[in-house]
Amino acid sequence: MYKMREVFEILEKEVKKFKIPVVDGMNDKFKVLVSAMLSARTKDEVTFEVCDKLFKKVKDFRDFRDLSVKEIEKLIYGVGFYKNKSRYLKKLEELEKVPEDFERLMKLDGVGRKTANLVLIVGFKEDRICVDVHVHRISNRLGWVKSENEYETEIELMKKIDKKYWNKINKLFVAYGKNICKPVSPFCSKCKIREYCKRVGVVRSR
Ligand code: SF4
Repeated sequence: MYKMREVFEILEKEVKKFKIPVVDGMNDKFKVLVSAMLSARTKDEVTFEVCDKLFKKVKDFRDFRDLSVKEIEKLIYGVGFYKNKSRYLKKLEELEKVPEDFERLMKLDGVGRKTANLVLIVGFKEDRICVDVHVHRISNRLGWVKSENEYETEIELMKKIDKKYWNKINKLFVAYGKNICKPVSPFCSKCKIREYCKRVGVVRSR
């Protein structure tokens, strides 16, 4: 079997050495949604910095009414696709509160499956699986899933891993994927979960 319990226990300890993704650890649902939108295709350090600057000006959805798209662009300059994201953030001015269900979140411009799941996990403490490139890659390398894309990974993982791990996997695999199980050449020689890993598709490692 996959020895998932062992893998999660080891990773819980290991990732304490690394920075956790920006959105994890936030309590304010508004900030969770905005940070999750900004973090897509953006380095964590940049997201941290931009969120810090933005949240000094913007405390809730209504505050976007006082800013033009151009002004938002200036505030979030540096994050990936900042021009598109400025337009998406401007549209949030119409909201009263963060939508509480997946379908309504997905209707917001700039919010895809990954962001919607992340908001529900971090903001609403729901048991869900948020799959990004790191979760997709590591789940396949471990041999837990055999999937072509992030959506398939999410569905397969939901069938295979115990629900108590669903909302942890993103935080753990993202941190581990950025530091050890890197995309091109993972650090298998110093990997603490190597004995549980099938290393599927790993051609080059360090
Ligand atoms: S053994 Fe290598 S491929 Fe497997 S999880 Fe560790 S770093 Fe990733």
